[in-house]
Amino acid sequence: MPHLYICHQCRTRAPKRWDRREGAEADQQQHRDDAHGGHVPIGGDGIETVHADSRGDGLLPRHTFFAVLFLLALVLANCWRG
Ligand SMILES: [Zn+2]
Repeated sequence: MPHLYICHQCRTRAPKRWDRREGAEADQQQHRDDAHGGHVPIGGDGIETVHADSRGDGLLPRHTFFAVLFLLALVLANCWRG
C-alpha cells in the first residue's frame, strides 16, 4: 500500500504517495526542514499507509462509497413501496 507523509501540526499532507516508505520519509525530513527548522513538530507528524484505490482522503475506497449509496437506495425504495 502507498505511503503518505502527514504533518498533524500544520494539518497538511505531502502531495505525493510513495510505494516505498523511504520516499515518504524523505518528504517528512523535507517538511521538517522547511516548516519546522529541522525539528519534530509538537503537534505530531507521521507516515501513514493509505489504500491504493481511495477517493484521495484515505478514508474510504471508492467502491465502498458507491456500495453504501446503493444499499441506502435499496432500503429507501423498500420503505416507499410500503
Ligand atoms: Zn508541519
